[in-house]
Amino acid sequence: MKYLIGDEVVLKISDTFGYNDTTYRSAKVQVIGYDMSDSSSYVQYLCYVPPYENVPKTFIINRTHIKLLEVDPKFLGDIGCFITAFTETYKHIPTKEGVSCDRCNEFCEGAQLPEEGPYHCRACRENPYR
Ligand SMILES: [Zn+2]
Repeated sequence: MKYLIGDEVVLKISDTFGYNDTTYRSAKVQVIGYDMSDSSSYVQYLCYVPPYENVPKTFIINRTHIKLLEVDPKFLGDIGCFITAFTETYKHIPTKEGVSCDRCNEFCEGAQLPEEGPYHCRACRENPYR
């Protein structure tokens, strides 16, 4: 999992004017649920979009989202959007302190990034072939 519930993500949104003028801007959203129902493709993360942010392809979060993606009902009627691990972003602000393992991607709460090189979790350090 690239994002966890509660994480904030600053999306990189491109606006195109005319034929080849593209500008980039940022919009901050919060991950509130994820959809793994389609096992053939990648995970989709449902994000809460604050009313002051302008994000393309948004929708109103309805009861189906709440039920299927186990979203907190307080988001019912709010604006949402879907992102994936491939969505362009400027920044990922994890809700919890910790680091994701560079090898298995597991999030290790409380872990700190080493000064040199990527972080590997305990399991991967003890067994590099896992
Ligand atoms: Zn690991």
